[in-house]
Amino acid sequence: MKAIRVHETGGAEALRLETIPDPIPGPGQVLVRLEAIGVNFIEIYQRRGLYKVQMPFVPGEEGAGTVAAIGSGVEDVRIGDRVASVNFRGSYAELAIADADKVVPIPDGLDTRAAAALMLQGMTAHYLATSVHALQPGDRCLVHAAAGGVGLLLCQIAKRRNAIVFGTVSTAEKARLARDAGADEVIDYTTQDFVAEVQRLTNGAKLQVVYDSVGATTYLGSIDCLAPRGMLALFGQSSGVVPPIDPLLFTRKGSLFMTRPTLGHYIATRDELVWRAGDVLGWVREGAVTLRIDREVPLAQAADAHRALEERRTTGKVLLVP
Ligand code: NDP
Repeated sequence: MKAIRVHETGGAEALRLETIPDPIPGPGQVLVRLEAIGVNFIEIYQRRGLYKVQMPFVPGEEGAGTVAAIGSGVEDVRIGDRVASVNFRGSYAELAIADADKVVPIPDGLDTRAAAALMLQGMTAHYLATSVHALQPGDRCLVHAAAGGVGLLLCQIAKRRNAIVFGTVSTAEKARLARDAGADEVIDYTTQDFVAEVQRLTNGAKLQVVYDSVGATTYLGSIDCLAPRGMLALFGQSSGVVPPIDPLLFTRKGSLFMTRPTLGHYIATRDELVWRAGDVLGWVREGAVTLRIDREVPLAQAADAHRALEERRTTGKVLLVP
């Protein structure tokens, strides 16, 4: 099969198209012929060496397609089923393996590519809004990079929970998209002081939660945006790594909470995975949440997809198509 492999850490050019043997599913595993592959920031962190992986490796965890083969002991998944997962072992490929209990069926009426686009960013937005800080009606939250893949979905899910949503973006076009996704107030954090804007727009009352995936350039401001006992949900570092923080800072700023969550811990059980995936895929199928696919890139051009994402040129999901 064709697959993208990385032999050493580096820039986007480290992503190379190669021909490698088809994987064979072991006990409890399924082999999926992928129709679409989700591109996520984690693959950029791995490619750059920020997250350690054993080389050479096929990047990618997210994708959707049709089951092509099953290993022994698999009972709930059949050859020909349409499935999606965020736990493929190398999804930048024509075929990929996942544990059978980590794939979910794609509901009838939902396109396979939409499922591939939704699983990781959708379930991330879901766990942030429903579990990390379960938004209550009237809660004020800030979503950084609000026109990004997670950001557009998180704005919509936060509005479904009747929160008041503040979003940050870097361009006027991104501001329009964030507003369309439900953000009540949108701040261009490249030209405006987002802390002062939050202070002004809330008459000094500030926020219950900040969902911060930007990291290095925003985390200190995010802390200053929080009301006493507020929550900093730091879930990424698109702009760079956050340095160690003195815990007394959280005392001085109002007995704040901080968490550094990751999706795996919020879909740790089959029930939780099925709940979150079912909600997200179902909302999009019903039209209650809108999915924005920014671009679909041929698998061979995975490097272009990475460059677009890391250069802030995307708004919504980036897919690879084998
Ligand atoms: P996005 O579509 O949000 O892309 C990243 C966005 O971050 C950019 O479009 C840009 O928006 C903003 N940004 C700000 N500064 C920079 C910078 N210096 N370089 C690049 N981008 C910058 O990506 P995703 O939706 O795929 O992921 C968002 C974040 O969420 C990532 O950090 C990712 O690691 C994290 N994540 C965490 C998960 C978890 O469970 N912890 C799961 C999934 C994603 P703008 O131009 O408007 O500033």
